[in-house]
Amino acid sequence: MLLFDSHCHIDFAAFDSDRAELWARCNRLGIEGLVIPGVNPAQWLNAAALCEQYSGFYFAAGLHPHWINQQPWFSPGTLLDDHSQAQIYQQLTAQLIPQSAAQSAPQSIATLHGERALAAQKKRCVAVGETGLDKLINVPLVLQQELLQLHTMFANEYQMPLIIHSVKTHNEILACFKQMPPRYGGVIHAFSGSLETAQQFIAQGFLLGVGGTITYERAKKTRATFSKIPLQYLLLETDAPDMPLSGKQGERNSPEYLPQIAQQLAQLQGVSVEQVAEVTTCNAQRLFGLPE
Ligand SMILES: [Zn+2]
Repeated sequence: MLLFDSHCHIDFAAFDSDRAELWARCNRLGIEGLVIPGVNPAQWLNAAALCEQYSGFYFAAGLHPHWINQQPWFSPGTLLDDHSQAQIYQQLTAQLIPQSAAQSAPQSIATLHGERALAAQKKRCVAVGETGLDKLINVPLVLQQELLQLHTMFANEYQMPLIIHSVKTHNEILACFKQMPPRYGGVIHAFSGSLETAQQFIAQGFLLGVGGTITYERAKKTRATFSKIPLQYLLLETDAPDMPLSGKQGERNSPEYLPQIAQQLAQLQGVSVEQVAEVTTCNAQRLFGLPE
């Protein structure tokens, strides 16, 4: 049984003391890979370095809503000016294209895209994000929307999927997608919500990230939703070190608990855990363009 953690902040300091041992334990449990979501430009470099070091690690480049107000260009009450916008775009591009390719002689767009895809593969940058909207933070929603658009534009240009963070903003995100449709899909990470909302995201070409929320008995709506959505639209994730499973509140969450999320999903769907593993891992490989 092979499992894939589609959202794991294993680069965070919480794992500095035991990352290698932890990943060895994960491998023994059948967890073969994970995606480290991007949170800010400095962190992408660290994530990329870990991907060189650990087989099975991939990363994404993106500015997480929670890190927006820590960026040098941030000032309360103003939107992104052209300069900051260009700077973020350039920082994202640097994750995908080696300098030599970016500076080489003019080529056809098709060749350039091919080379970019190859370079991304080499650097193991497999998605754009996390980006999205969050109503519980002190960053103006309009600014978050601007950044979501910028990430979407970038993902479309470089043919990449998006990793979306949405807290109490499903409708606003759907509205953004209407304005600028993501062309290469993505995942709504740690989805919780109704079946109807889930179907709207699926209609936009998105998968839904199933995390520890479903281990809580009180999460009735989300459990009901995930009992009805075909497995082909789902990815497993832990969001470690955040989002501890039921019974582990207050502890560090860990990718080694991914099998418990798979088990719970299997129970909700009335299928075997092997089936959950097989389909969700295949979904992750397809979405992120990973070798099978
Ligand atoms: Zn996250």
